[in-house]
Amino acid sequence: MVEVRNAHKRYGALEVLKGIDLTVDRGRIIAIIGPSGSGKSTLLRSINHLETLNEGEIFLDGVQVNAPLTGAAFERHINAVRQQMGMVFQHFNLFPHLTVGRNVTLALTLLKGMSEAEAREVARDQLAKVGLADRMDTHPARLSGGQKQRVAIARALAMGPKVMLFDEATSALDPELVDEVNLVMKQLAAEHMTMLIVTHEMRFAEEVADEVLFMDGGVVVEQGPPAEIFRNPRQERTRGFLRKYL
Ligand code: ATP
Ligand code: MG
Repeated sequence: MVEVRNAHKRYGALEVLKGIDLTVDRGRIIAIIGPSGSGKSTLLRSINHLETLNEGEIFLDGVQVNAPLTGAAFERHINAVRQQMGMVFQHFNLFPHLTVGRNVTLALTLLKGMSEAEAREVARDQLAKVGLADRMDTHPARLSGGQKQRVAIARALAMGPKVMLFDEATSALDPELVDEVNLVMKQLAAEHMTMLIVTHEMRFAEEVADEVLFMDGGVVVEQGPPAEIFRNPRQERTRGFLRKYL
Protein backbone atom coordinates (compact mmCIF):
# COMPACT_ATOMS: atom_id res chain seq x y z
CA MET A 1 0.00 0.00 0.00
CA VAL A 2 2.64 2.55 1.11
CA GLU A 3 6.26 2.07 0.35
CA VAL A 4 9.15 4.35 1.25
CA ARG A 5 12.49 3.60 -0.36
CA ASN A 6 15.76 5.12 0.79
CA ALA A 7 14.19 8.42 1.84
CA HIS A 8 16.67 11.25 2.41
CA LYS A 9 15.68 14.74 3.47
CA ARG A 10 18.01 17.64 4.21
CA TYR A 11 17.36 21.13 5.48
CA GLY A 12 20.54 22.89 4.45
CA ALA A 13 23.38 21.05 6.16
CA LEU A 14 21.04 19.19 8.50
CA GLU A 15 20.15 15.70 7.31
CA VAL A 16 16.82 14.86 8.91
CA LEU A 17 16.02 11.59 7.10
CA LYS A 18 19.04 9.43 6.41
CA GLY A 19 17.76 6.66 4.21
CA ILE A 20 14.40 5.44 5.53
CA ASP A 21 12.83 2.26 4.14
CA LEU A 22 9.31 1.40 5.14
CA THR A 23 6.55 -0.84 3.81
CA VAL A 24 2.98 -0.60 5.04
CA ASP A 25 0.69 -3.34 3.77
CA ARG A 26 -3.04 -2.85 3.36
CA GLY A 27 -4.89 -2.90 6.66
CA ARG A 28 -1.74 -2.64 8.75
CA ILE A 29 -1.25 -0.14 11.52
CA ILE A 30 2.24 1.20 12.08
CA ALA A 31 3.11 3.35 15.08
CA ILE A 32 6.16 5.61 14.75
CA ILE A 33 7.85 6.58 18.01
CA GLY A 34 11.07 8.40 18.78
CA PRO A 35 12.53 11.47 20.46
CA SER A 36 11.74 15.02 19.45
CA GLY A 37 13.61 15.99 16.30
CA SER A 38 14.16 12.40 15.15
CA GLY A 39 12.33 13.03 11.86
CA LYS A 40 8.91 11.47 12.51
CA SER A 41 6.87 14.40 11.20
CA THR A 42 9.23 14.92 8.29
CA LEU A 43 8.75 11.29 7.28
CA LEU A 44 4.97 11.50 7.50
CA ARG A 45 4.88 14.82 5.64
CA SER A 46 7.14 13.41 2.94
CA ILE A 47 4.72 10.57 2.34
CA ASN A 48 2.04 12.94 1.06
CA HIS A 49 4.61 15.35 -0.35
CA LEU A 50 4.14 18.20 2.09
CA GLU A 51 7.93 17.89 2.17
CA THR A 52 10.01 17.10 -0.90
CA LEU A 53 12.62 14.38 -0.50
CA ASN A 54 16.17 15.04 -1.67
CA GLU A 55 16.53 11.41 -2.57
CA GLY A 56 14.39 8.28 -2.51
CA GLU A 57 10.91 7.28 -3.59
CA ILE A 58 7.46 7.06 -2.05
CA PHE A 59 4.82 4.79 -3.55
CA LEU A 60 1.10 4.53 -2.92
CA ASP A 61 -0.36 1.36 -4.38
CA GLY A 62 2.55 1.19 -6.80
CA VAL A 63 2.18 4.79 -7.99
CA GLN A 64 5.17 7.00 -7.27
CA VAL A 65 4.01 9.92 -5.11
CA ASN A 66 7.12 12.02 -5.76
CA ALA A 67 6.90 11.24 -9.45
CA PRO A 68 9.49 12.81 -11.78
CA LEU A 69 6.98 15.23 -13.29
CA THR A 70 7.12 19.02 -13.39
CA GLY A 71 4.79 21.99 -13.46
CA ALA A 72 1.09 21.50 -14.04
CA ALA A 73 1.51 17.78 -14.69
CA PHE A 74 2.99 17.30 -11.22
CA GLU A 75 0.29 19.48 -9.63
CA ARG A 76 -2.43 17.32 -11.20
CA HIS A 77 -0.64 14.16 -10.14
CA ILE A 78 -0.05 15.20 -6.54
CA ASN A 79 -3.61 16.49 -6.07
CA ALA A 80 -4.94 13.13 -7.22
CA VAL A 81 -2.55 11.25 -4.93
CA ARG A 82 -3.33 13.43 -1.89
CA GLN A 83 -7.03 12.65 -2.20
CA GLN A 84 -6.12 9.07 -1.40
CA MET A 85 -4.30 9.92 1.82
CA GLY A 86 -5.94 11.43 4.87
CA MET A 87 -3.72 13.42 7.19
CA VAL A 88 -4.52 14.53 10.71
CA PHE A 89 -2.25 17.03 12.45
CA GLN A 90 -1.63 17.93 16.06
CA HIS A 91 -3.41 21.28 15.59
CA PHE A 92 -6.61 20.20 13.79
CA ASN A 93 -6.22 22.79 10.99
CA LEU A 94 -9.97 23.30 10.64
CA PHE A 95 -11.21 26.37 8.76
CA PRO A 96 -12.47 28.58 11.60
CA HIS A 97 -14.86 30.63 9.44
CA LEU A 98 -16.67 27.55 8.11
CA THR A 99 -19.19 25.35 9.90
CA VAL A 100 -18.26 21.81 10.86
CA GLY A 101 -20.34 20.51 7.97
CA ARG A 102 -18.70 22.84 5.46
CA ASN A 103 -15.25 21.89 6.75
CA VAL A 104 -16.05 18.34 5.76
CA THR A 105 -17.91 19.04 2.50
CA LEU A 106 -15.46 21.59 1.07
CA ALA A 107 -12.99 19.15 -0.48
CA LEU A 108 -15.82 16.84 -1.55
CA THR A 109 -17.42 19.57 -3.65
CA LEU A 110 -14.20 21.20 -4.85
CA LEU A 111 -12.07 18.14 -5.54
CA LYS A 112 -14.51 15.26 -5.91
CA GLY A 113 -17.12 17.27 -7.81
CA MET A 114 -19.99 16.23 -5.54
CA SER A 115 -23.12 18.34 -5.29
CA GLU A 116 -23.62 20.19 -2.01
CA ALA A 117 -26.44 17.80 -1.08
CA GLU A 118 -24.42 14.66 -1.80
CA ALA A 119 -21.45 16.04 0.12
CA ARG A 120 -23.63 16.90 3.10
CA GLU A 121 -24.85 13.34 3.21
CA VAL A 122 -21.30 11.99 3.21
CA ALA A 123 -20.34 14.55 5.86
CA ARG A 124 -23.26 13.57 8.06
CA ASP A 125 -22.29 9.88 7.85
CA GLN A 126 -18.66 10.57 8.70
CA LEU A 127 -19.53 12.97 11.52
CA ALA A 128 -21.93 10.36 12.90
CA LYS A 129 -19.05 7.88 12.96
CA VAL A 130 -17.07 10.18 15.23
CA GLY A 131 -20.12 11.01 17.35
CA LEU A 132 -20.72 14.53 16.02
CA ALA A 133 -23.70 14.18 13.68
CA ASP A 134 -25.55 16.91 15.57
CA ARG A 135 -22.75 19.46 15.09
CA MET A 136 -22.99 20.00 11.33
CA ASP A 137 -23.94 23.67 11.66
CA THR A 138 -21.66 24.56 14.57
CA HIS A 139 -18.48 26.59 14.09
CA PRO A 140 -15.19 25.03 15.25
CA ALA A 141 -14.65 27.72 17.89
CA ARG A 142 -17.59 26.28 19.82
CA LEU A 143 -16.10 22.79 19.99
CA SER A 144 -13.70 21.26 22.49
CA GLY A 145 -10.25 20.21 21.28
CA GLY A 146 -11.33 16.59 21.23
CA GLN A 147 -14.38 17.43 19.14
CA LYS A 148 -12.28 19.53 16.74
CA GLN A 149 -9.89 16.67 16.26
CA ARG A 150 -12.78 14.29 15.59
CA VAL A 151 -14.07 16.70 12.94
CA ALA A 152 -10.60 16.73 11.39
CA ILE A 153 -10.66 12.93 11.29
CA ALA A 154 -14.17 12.89 9.79
CA ARG A 155 -13.03 15.39 7.15
CA ALA A 156 -10.11 13.18 6.19
CA LEU A 157 -12.25 10.03 6.14
CA ALA A 158 -14.91 11.66 3.98
CA MET A 159 -12.49 11.63 1.05
CA GLY A 160 -12.36 7.83 1.21
CA PRO A 161 -8.59 7.62 1.69
CA LYS A 162 -6.57 4.45 1.21
CA VAL A 163 -4.38 5.33 4.16
CA MET A 164 -4.61 7.64 7.16
CA LEU A 165 -1.59 9.51 8.50
CA PHE A 166 -1.79 10.78 12.08
CA ASP A 167 0.88 13.14 13.42
CA GLU A 168 0.48 13.33 17.19
CA ALA A 169 -3.28 13.71 16.86
CA THR A 170 -3.78 13.86 20.63
CA SER A 171 -0.73 15.67 21.94
CA ALA A 172 -2.33 19.14 21.90
CA LEU A 173 -5.36 17.92 23.84
CA ASP A 174 -6.17 18.19 27.52
CA PRO A 175 -5.64 14.75 29.07
CA GLU A 176 -9.35 14.15 29.61
CA LEU A 177 -10.01 14.61 25.87
CA VAL A 178 -7.39 12.16 24.64
CA ASP A 179 -9.50 9.03 25.03
CA GLU A 180 -12.37 10.17 22.81
CA VAL A 181 -9.93 10.71 19.93
CA ASN A 182 -8.04 7.50 20.60
CA LEU A 183 -11.36 5.68 20.57
CA VAL A 184 -12.05 6.91 17.03
CA MET A 185 -8.62 5.69 15.96
CA LYS A 186 -9.28 2.32 17.56
CA GLN A 187 -12.58 2.12 15.69
CA LEU A 188 -10.68 2.70 12.44
CA ALA A 189 -8.21 0.02 13.44
CA ALA A 190 -11.08 -2.41 13.99
CA GLU A 191 -12.27 -1.60 10.47
CA HIS A 192 -8.78 -2.39 9.15
CA MET A 193 -7.99 1.09 7.91
CA THR A 194 -4.33 1.31 6.89
CA MET A 195 -2.72 3.77 9.28
CA LEU A 196 0.59 5.40 10.09
CA ILE A 197 0.47 6.89 13.55
CA VAL A 198 3.16 9.14 15.03
CA THR A 199 2.60 9.16 18.76
CA HIS A 200 4.17 9.80 22.15
CA GLU A 201 1.61 7.58 23.83
CA MET A 202 3.36 4.28 24.25
CA ARG A 203 0.39 2.52 25.79
CA PHE A 204 -1.84 3.49 22.89
CA ALA A 205 0.81 2.42 20.37
CA GLU A 206 1.11 -0.93 22.09
CA GLU A 207 -2.64 -1.43 22.04
CA VAL A 208 -3.39 -0.41 18.48
CA ALA A 209 -0.32 -1.02 16.33
CA ASP A 210 0.63 -4.16 14.42
CA GLU A 211 4.15 -2.89 14.20
CA VAL A 212 6.20 -0.22 15.98
CA LEU A 213 8.99 1.72 14.39
CA PHE A 214 11.52 3.48 16.60
CA MET A 215 13.26 6.41 14.90
CA ASP A 216 16.25 8.33 16.20
CA GLY A 217 18.48 10.77 14.37
CA GLY A 218 16.77 10.27 11.02
CA VAL A 219 17.11 6.50 10.88
CA VAL A 220 14.88 3.59 11.85
CA VAL A 221 16.77 2.13 14.78
CA GLU A 222 14.46 -0.78 15.40
CA GLN A 223 11.09 -2.06 14.25
CA GLY A 224 8.92 -4.98 15.22
CA PRO A 225 5.72 -6.12 16.92
CA PRO A 226 4.71 -3.92 19.86
CA ALA A 227 5.37 -6.67 22.39
CA GLU A 228 8.94 -6.96 21.16
CA ILE A 229 9.72 -3.24 20.96
CA PHE A 230 8.14 -2.34 24.28
CA ARG A 231 8.99 -5.41 26.34
CA ASN A 232 12.17 -6.68 24.81
CA PRO A 233 13.90 -4.01 22.70
CA ARG A 234 17.19 -5.12 21.15
CA GLN A 235 18.85 -1.75 20.73
CA GLU A 236 20.27 0.26 23.59
CA ARG A 237 18.93 3.47 22.01
CA THR A 238 15.41 2.06 22.08
CA ARG A 239 15.81 1.03 25.69
CA GLY A 240 17.12 4.46 26.65
CA PHE A 241 14.19 6.16 24.96
CA LEU A 242 11.55 3.89 26.46
CA ARG A 243 12.98 4.20 29.96
CA LYS A 244 11.70 7.78 30.01
CA TYR A 245 8.15 6.56 29.48
CA LEU A 246 8.05 3.88 32.18
P1 ATP B 1 8.70 16.03 17.45
O1 ATP B 1 8.54 14.78 18.30
O2 ATP B 1 9.21 17.17 18.28
O3 ATP B 1 7.47 16.38 16.68
P2 ATP B 1 9.89 14.98 15.01
O4 ATP B 1 10.47 13.63 15.21
O5 ATP B 1 8.55 15.06 14.39
O6 ATP B 1 9.90 15.74 16.41
P3 ATP B 1 10.72 16.62 12.79
O7 ATP B 1 9.67 17.66 12.97
O8 ATP B 1 10.56 15.68 11.68
O9 ATP B 1 10.93 15.81 14.15
O10 ATP B 1 12.09 17.41 12.67
C1 ATP B 1 13.32 16.76 12.47
C2 ATP B 1 14.42 17.79 12.43
O11 ATP B 1 14.25 18.61 11.27
C3 ATP B 1 14.45 18.73 13.61
O12 ATP B 1 15.80 18.97 13.94
C4 ATP B 1 13.81 19.98 13.09
O13 ATP B 1 14.29 21.11 13.75
C5 ATP B 1 14.22 19.97 11.64
N1 ATP B 1 13.25 20.65 10.75
C6 ATP B 1 11.96 20.28 10.57
N2 ATP B 1 11.35 21.08 9.68
C7 ATP B 1 12.28 21.98 9.28
C8 ATP B 1 12.29 23.08 8.37
N3 ATP B 1 11.18 23.39 7.65
N4 ATP B 1 13.43 23.77 8.22
C9 ATP B 1 14.53 23.44 8.91
N5 ATP B 1 14.61 22.43 9.78
C10 ATP B 1 13.51 21.70 9.96
MG1 MG C 1 6.75 15.87 14.95
